[in-house]
Amino acid sequence: MNTVKKSVARLREYGVSQETGLIKLNQNESPYDIPLKIKRKILSRMEAASWNRYPLAVPESFMEKLSAYAGFPSSGICIGNGSNELIQTLVYAFCDTGDRVVVVRPGFSIYKRVCDVMNIPVTEVSLKENFSLDVGAIIARSRGARLLILSSPNNPTGICLPREDAERLSAEVSCPVIFDEAYHEFSGCSFADFIDEKKPLFVLRTFSKAFRLAGLRLGYLLGTEKNIRQIGKAKLPFSVGLFSQIAGEIIMEHRSFLDKNLRNIIRERERLYGELSKCPGLFPIRSEANFILIRCDGIRRDALFRGLYHKGILVRRFDENGLESMIRVTVGKPEENDIFLKNIRSVLKEEKS
Ligand code: PMP
Repeated sequence: MNTVKKSVARLREYGVSQETGLIKLNQNESPYDIPLKIKRKILSRMEAASWNRYPLAVPESFMEKLSAYAGFPSSGICIGNGSNELIQTLVYAFCDTGDRVVVVRPGFSIYKRVCDVMNIPVTEVSLKENFSLDVGAIIARSRGARLLILSSPNNPTGICLPREDAERLSAEVSCPVIFDEAYHEFSGCSFADFIDEKKPLFVLRTFSKAFRLAGLRLGYLLGTEKNIRQIGKAKLPFSVGLFSQIAGEIIMEHRSFLDKNLRNIIRERERLYGELSKCPGLFPIRSEANFILIRCDGIRRDALFRGLYHKGILVRRFDENGLESMIRVTVGKPEENDIFLKNIRSVLKEEKS
């Protein structure tokens, strides 16, 4: 029987638990749904739209609002069906057989997965022991590479790349650079101002985290007008449906309501960090995103994961090298975080006795 190509057959299925009925703190989503009033506005605009026509390739009024938010001309923005689609598009657009991509490890796994499917070799540069980026090593390993992809804040560590490091990377790396800023709103830090005509540099963002639209799939890419036009050629046409376009536009019109919850999530992140730091055997890493990576010392990570799971709380664990003693928890609503803290303390006690 004919089968898929080897690079696909070799891959493990992408598996993240999406079980319902649990306190779900495993996918870095917003714990806050879109308020009903805004959902209704989206639905009524959707009702008035023509569903029989293809969506606009460049939905101008949405792009104008996104441009005002991002502080970037709309000619330098490309929207995608989630930022994952844009990661794939960038690799499509830049890489051919024989090319190589550089990422950091631990980092967001989709970069490597996309390359693996296309048989593009990936160089994974390990983070330093304190999880900061080894800028010198990245520059060295990027020589002769086709693309460098980094996220800031990094997933799963939550750590932002210091501005001077980003500046050095942009200046010294000879291949195109992509800064994935999926968690930008939680950190307030961005490298979009490094985008200029000198070298291909892109910033990737998403509506899935601070903007609470993970279910709808919407992301965007910032670059120079010339580079964005080239990337657009490699992207599937009409991949962003009408529903996502309309929802994105209405979310842009209601940004102020998002700000309050954004502040709540940041406050809760700091509270969680403080409380977790007091738990014997747990070593949380200071994060600028909406999640916290926690090192377990003196308690088995899997026992902690299972203990929480049996108490109805889902967090994330990774099989990757270097993350065997870690769990990652997404910041939830205050009441969810209270339950998480109460239960993690109780699992720690049970495991000790
Ligand atoms: N980049 C990073 C760093 C992420 O953590 C995620 C989501 N987990 C994405 C991109 C993908 O986001 P989207 O929902 O826009 O595809």
